[in-house]
Parts: sequence; C-alpha cells; structure tokens
Amino acid sequence: MHRLKNYLKRMLNLIRIKIDLRKIKPKNDFLIIFDIDDTLCENPLHQNKEIKEELINIYKRLRFNENIFYNLKKRYLKHDLIFLSARNPRYKRITHKWLEGNLPQNKFNLFLCGHAKNKLAYLSDLKDKYMRIIYVDDLSYFVDGQRCFYKDIIQYCENEEKIEYLGWSYISKYR
Ligand SMILES: [Mg+2]
Repeated sequence: MHRLKNYLKRMLNLIRIKIDLRKIKPKNDFLIIFDIDDTLCENPLHQNKEIKEELINIYKRLRFNENIFYNLKKRYLKHDLIFLSARNPRYKRITHKWLEGNLPQNKFNLFLCGHAKNKLAYLSDLKDKYMRIIYVDDLSYFVDGQRCFYKDIIQYCENEEKIEYLGWSYISKYR
C-alpha cells in the first residue's frame, strides 16, 4: 500500500512537471530564474522544524529581499522571469499572491515542484528553450542546524554552458 502510494505520488509529480513545462512560452532568448526560500527571503522553517504554525501564515509574512531581486533584474531587464521553488504545490496560490504583492510591475511564471531534486527536470527543459539562463538559488537545506547543499544539482548547473549559476556564496552577501 505504501509503495503504491509512493508510486502514484511520483506519477502525479511527473504529470504536474509536464503541465508546468508546457506553459513556458519564451518571449525572449534569455531567462532569469529565482528560487524563493533562502534566496529571496529568509525562511525560518528551514532551520527550525519545530514550528507548528500553519505554513500559510508563515509564507504570507516572509520579508521579500528586494535588494537581491532588483540588483539582478536591473541588469537583466530583457530576460523572461520564472520563480522555481521546492515548496509543496498546494501553496501555489499563496506564493503567487505574495510575489505579486512584492513585484506588482513584473510578469512571471511560478512553479512549485515539491522537492529540490525535481528542479532538474525544469532546468533541463528550460535550457533547450532559451539561449542563456541566469539561475539564482541557494540549493541548500539544513540538517541539525548545519547548512548542506544539493551538490548534484549544483554540479549540473556548473557543467551546463547555458546556465550561469548564482548560489549561496552570492546570495549570502545580501543578508
Ligand atoms: Mg532555497
């Protein structure tokens, strides 16, 4: 029963990724992708699993880091804009509202992929659709209060010529 549930979950995930990717219609040759948690905002959840509060209330109140966003957006004015986060897709509406509230002047796509490893499917599809991608994502998680990194995803980005990856060492300068 447990295995069946996992299998179905994986299938649903793949279907959602396919549907998301179909929505991407490039308007420019260039794209900028931002992660959300620990990239555009500091999310206390990622360091403290004890927080019992409803996620929805936490996501609503997070402080948007305008510095990092506008510094890059100014430089890459003509780039399409995508937000790609590992949050659970059930928080898509609240996340979209939060982004709209903070960025009223920007057109963007938002994809919530449930787990960081699913980001690879998006990146590999997007790199075929665009000539160049700026990708801003801490790609990190916490274990016992220690920051760890999704090394295989980082490796993938660093090996892809079309992707310029800006990770935690870049992001942390804006803290
Ligand atoms: Mg993150």
